[in-house]
Formats: sequence, structure tokens, C-alpha cells
Amino acid sequence: TTEMETRSFEADVARLLHMMVHSVYSDRDVFLRELISNAADACEKLRYEAIARPELLGDDPKPRIALFADAENRLLSIEDNGIGMDGEEMTEALGTIARSGTRAFMERLEAAKGGENAELVGQFGVGFYSAFMVAEKVEVISRPAGSDEAWRWSSDGKGSYSVGPAAIGDAPPRGTRVVLHLMEDAASCTEPHRLERLVKSHSGHVPVPVTLVEKPGAEPREIADGTALWVKPKSEIKPEEYTDFYRSVAGQYDEPATTIHFRAEGRQEYTVLAFIPGSRPFDLFDPDRSGHMKLYVRRVFITDDAELTPRYLRFVRGIVDSADLPLNISREMIQQNPLLAAIRKGVTSRVLNDLAKLADSDAEAYGRIWENFGAVIKEGLYEDFERREQLLKLVRFSSTTPGDKPRSLADYVNSMKEGQKAIYFMTGDDRARLESSPQLEGFKARGVEVLLLTDPIDAFWTANAPEFEGKPFKSVTQGGAELADIPLTDAEAKDTPQAPAEVEGFLAFVKETLGDDVSDVRASDRLTESAVCLVAPEDALDRQFERLLSAAGR
Ligand code: ADP
Ligand code: MG
Repeated sequence: TTEMETRSFEADVARLLHMMVHSVYSDRDVFLRELISNAADACEKLRYEAIARPELLGDDPKPRIALFADAENRLLSIEDNGIGMDGEEMTEALGTIARSGTRAFMERLEAAKGGENAELVGQFGVGFYSAFMVAEKVEVISRPAGSDEAWRWSSDGKGSYSVGPAAIGDAPPRGTRVVLHLMEDAASCTEPHRLERLVKSHSGHVPVPVTLVEKPGAEPREIADGTALWVKPKSEIKPEEYTDFYRSVAGQYDEPATTIHFRAEGRQEYTVLAFIPGSRPFDLFDPDRSGHMKLYVRRVFITDDAELTPRYLRFVRGIVDSADLPLNISREMIQQNPLLAAIRKGVTSRVLNDLAKLADSDAEAYGRIWENFGAVIKEGLYEDFERREQLLKLVRFSSTTPGDKPRSLADYVNSMKEGQKAIYFMTGDDRARLESSPQLEGFKARGVEVLLLTDPIDAFWTANAPEFEGKPFKSVTQGGAELADIPLTDAEAKDTPQAPAEVEGFLAFVKETLGDDVSDVRASDRLTESAVCLVAPEDALDRQFERLLSAAGR
């Protein structure tokens, strides 16, 4: 067709836009880094495509982003010479919400209703649609690389957009121009100093240079040189530069909890700049989400799909820049490449080592990371047997030992009682319920610590018979828990008389009455106050694990 077509936004987009306009953001300036980051992504996608099809670059091989300010008409444009979009791609990319993280974000946003969580919500980037925080109308004009056609998309953000062909002369020679018709109260977005400050402070490290044209007809002036931050020596990088880079690469606006920057040399040469976020991304538990590390080869962006971290470190954000991989490596070939397997190993070791160091040097900071990501790290306990030892040192637990400091396994082993041979744990959904369980009575009476495990994942890794420093893990619901070997410490319980002989008769009676519903009925050392409790046989599944399996229909 040659006509512009009007279409409705997907319902979720309409909701998002509505929230955007009645903004919960205190900082509307984020729109600029979102649009610059899209422009940079488009340039990097083109650079990658051009490895196989150099003709796409034509006589304009250098990636660039240009800002055009026009105060008189209250216009601000962001233009790139990247990959571009055709009409169909515009509909797909700018009319729907493709990112599951954005969807989760919206649910949080709606739950926040106005006030108290607004600050938290402001830590997350929402991409292209943030343009509507400052613009009453947004136009996107694009000419895909290698195409003779141009396309236009436009919307006032109120429920519909139109999309259709554009005159080739209106479009950039290649790539995309996003034109913001600024709201009255956002007119200052055309001020050159303000733009320069915003770009320098927030987008100064995108790997594409940015120029500014201050008013129609003015000469372009470079305001960011496109030097990738990770190339600079560590000693020359300021903490706020790391933070800005983190924000642009992670699309989150919080502070990183940890920054990991190193260069591996020797058999393989690569640079890693990675961050552990200061807060949980919304898609942390999305099963489709694998890694989030971007792969570069000698500064050329290749893919963010290379699974540079194992799944249990999927919260790590950042980049790996390899000096050895071939530039023309296809995304499909990446999975099997041995160089990449070595990089993955190196990155994983380094992240785990740095976490262990942090746990030693700053337990509080480590505690916050654990609180956000511990449930994910624990997946490694059954996915990565090779590193289980290392991971067990990182794991923190709540337990029956009073105090709000999380316990490490080393803490646990140090306070084991005389005669105690195992690390006892109990799994369930809710800490308070676990704490009041009769299963714990015999342990309490002996001062034996029990780990209280409330993440769903806990039932899985504990089922895999892990050991720590030679001590097996044992569920308190399993078998006769060798409690008799451990002396009582509780004075009252010490006074409790031994089970009288009649108990035998009573046990036989109960056993007969319950018949096949139970495999055994025993007198036990595990109870001091309650009369009975249900336990699993020594060789059977832990009860919580059993519940999970039956819930999963197994
Ligand atoms: P994200 O960048 O995380 O994918 P955005 O909402 O920022 O999400 O952008 C949505 C999509 O729109 C991008 O994935 C891309 O396909 C497309 N897009 C946005 N800006 C551009 C641009 N300047 N050039 C090409 N494609 C773009
Ligand atoms: Mg984006």
C-alpha cells in the first residue's frame, strides 16, 4: 500500500503509555538515554550484518548518532545511520511490548499506584515509549540499510499510531530519525547545554560517537567520542562512569552492587566489564531469560544471546570483548565455539571468586546481593556440580539460630553439637510455619541448629545429596534423625521421663489402626512437646520435595 494506516496499540502498550504520561518518573530525562541506546543498538546491528554484507555500509561506514535541536519549533530529533526499520518492523517493535521484562515492570507499576514505590519503579528503563514522557507527538522515519524505501510511524501516544511509506527524501540516507514534538513543559530539552550535559553524563560511553546540531543549519559538534569504556585502563575510570555504563548496558537506573572489570591475557585475550545489579530485574525468574552479557569481538557488537554466563548467574549484566574470536562468527556457531566455552568458564570463575571475596570483606553488601539473587544462585547447586563446593560457600540461610544475620555453612559447621553428624534442614513455604513445626522440637531441645529453607528451589538441590566439609545434608522430616546420640541441653526436656513400656503396646495399636497408610510407627527422640508428627522414611524423599513433585503431576 502507499497509504498511511492507523492502528491501535496492543492493550499493554496503551496502558504503559498512559502511565508514562501520568508519569511516575521523577526523572524524565531518561528518555534521551533510552533513545540514544536504541540508536547505538541499531548501529551495532548494522555493523554486525555488514560483516557478511559489506555493501550495506555503502560509502558511509562509520556509525554515528546525531541530535538535532530546534527550539523555535520545539523539536528534538535523534538520528542514527544504523540498520533502520521497515513498516512491518515498526509495527512489531513500536506497537507491541516484546520485552517480557517490560510487561512485569507494568504490573509492578500498576501495583505501585501513584506513590510509595515510585522511586523503585524509576530504577527501570522502559525503552522507546519513554519518549512520550516529554513529547506530545513522536514521529519515526526510517530507511533500512540497503533499501530504496522509507517508512514513517507516528503517534500522539493516545491509543493509536499510524504507519506507512514515506518519501525517500524525508528519511535519513540510512537508518532512523526519531522526531520528538516536545510538550510545552519539556521545551528545555532543546537547550544545547542541557543536551550536552545529559549525553556526557548518561550516554558518554556508548560505543558510537554522538554529535549535536544546536539549531537548524548549525554545524554538527561532537559531544561524545564513542570510545568504549571497557577499553580504558581501570585506573582512569571514575565510579560514576562505571555507573553510567552499567545503566546503559543493563537498562536499569539503580546503582550496581558490584563492578567486575578485568582483562584476561595469555592463551585467550578478552575484556570483561560486568555488574551485579543493585536491585532485582523484573524478569529474573522468566524461564526464557538466559544470560544478559553482550558479546563483542574487537569492539564490534556480535550478540547478547551468547550465554556468556551460566543460567544461575543470569542477573549479571555487562559485556565481554574478545580479541580472538573471528569477526564473522555467526550467531548459530557461537554455541559450539571452544574459545567461547573458555570465556564462559573464565567469566563464571571470576564472578564467583569476586562474590566470595565480597562475602569476606563486606558481609552486609554481600547480604544484599544474596537477598536479591540468592534464589537464582542456588540453582547452580544442582546445575553446576563442578562448582558445587564453591557455590556452597556462597550460600546463606536463615535458621533456628536467633538473629537476623544470614548463616553460612561454615557458621553452621562451627556451631555443630557434640555427636552431631549431619547438617539439618527443613523446607517449606513459610518461615514462621517452619519455626513452629513439631519436627523441630527434638532439635531445639538439644540446641541443634536447623536451616529453614523457604525458596522453592531448596527442595531440588537438597534432594541431590550434597555434602559440605564431609557433612551430609539431612532433612528433619527424614527418618529417625540420629538425635539420640546428641545430649539434651534443654533443662526441662532433660527431666522428661523415658518412654514407659506401655508405649510399645500403644504403637502397635496405632500401626494396626492406620494399616497401609503408614510404613512405620515409632517412639522418637525428636518430640519434646507435641504427641506425634509425620516423618518420611530414612530412604524416601523429603516431604516438601514430594509435595512439589505431586504438584508438578509426577
Ligand atoms: P529494546 O531496545 O530493549 O529492544 P525499546 O523499547 O527501546 O526496547 O525498542 C524497541 C525496539 O524498537 C527495538 O528492539 C528495535 O527493534 C526498535 N528500534 C527502536 N529504536 C530503533 C532505531 N533507532 N533503529 C532501529 N530500530 C529501533
Ligand atoms: Mg532500547
